[in-house]
Amino acid sequence: MGENGGMLALVRLRRGVVGESRRVCHLIPVPSGPVPEHLTALCGESIFPGEAEVLDGLRGMPCHACLVRSAPPGRGFLANAG
Ligand SMILES: [Zn+2]
Repeated sequence: MGENGGMLALVRLRRGVVGESRRVCHLIPVPSGPVPEHLTALCGESIFPGEAEVLDGLRGMPCHACLVRSAPPGRGFLANAG
């Protein structure tokens, strides 16, 4: 869940920006105001809009750190996944 209870977007860094092994799907809280210069994923990775693509669903490998941080506290969310 986002800091303000808002939406989360799935983004992935574009091919060529980083190596294939780092092209994981990050979760990013969608800013409610103007789009900032860069976005920060839940895991702390800085995402610059020109370097990333927004996904309409989970593709490929999710960022584990983002997933852990997005899981509701006190629930067995990840334990039930997959
Ligand atoms: Zn991440």
